[in-house]
Amino acid sequence: MPPITKEDFMNNVLETLWRYSVDFPVSREKGCNPDFTALVVKLLSDHDAYSIPVSIDNVYQGLGIRLVQDDFIAQGEEEGLLGYIIAIDDGLISEERPYSIVAAVRSTDPVELKRITAGHELYHAIYDMREELRKNGASAMSIRMESTSFDENEVIANEFAAQFLMPVAKLIDAFNKLPAKSVRVLSNIFGVPSEEMVKRLRNLGITNYIDDGIPLSERRQVCDC
Ligand SMILES: [Zn+2]
Repeated sequence: MPPITKEDFMNNVLETLWRYSVDFPVSREKGCNPDFTALVVKLLSDHDAYSIPVSIDNVYQGLGIRLVQDDFIAQGEEEGLLGYIIAIDDGLISEERPYSIVAAVRSTDPVELKRITAGHELYHAIYDMREELRKNGASAMSIRMESTSFDENEVIANEFAAQFLMPVAKLIDAFNKLPAKSVRVLSNIFGVPSEEMVKRLRNLGITNYIDDGIPLSERRQVCDC
């Protein structure tokens, strides 16, 4: 067997990711969030992850991306960094798998926030990675900061994460089955932060939930579409 070259590895992984972006282009009507429903169903079905809570690990493994936890502050990184995705040369660690795409989430975050960050980075893996790698090579490609929610691509990445972790059909089904429409219970079922659940319900036009006193953070944008 000839050794796997960096180009082979990157081409195989990138090809798979890129195909999703071609099959499911982001379309955004003015003022509206893109609808990722079809992509989410395909991604989850392709990787046996369409359970609740959504199995992020299955999707990452299926796509050949490593998901790791990192203490960014201990690494001297900027405060407010929630996650990033990067292509790295792994040759010293593993001869069989000399190169990797790695997504990192902040180790000190609650598990629910880590899941949102992992979903966010998955958006970049599908939609941004190929172009970034072509431009910059194997270097840091994308980061998620606490304060970047007003950058349009970051807002879209956050929206993808919400739709990916709270698939519309599953969410409506769970909501309808709940005798008391509690955001806290729904958040636990889907493994997401309560604030993200409130935002998702509102974006779907669902307002008859019990908010358990959870405020909708001012910096989060709600779409009226
Ligand atoms: Zn981002």
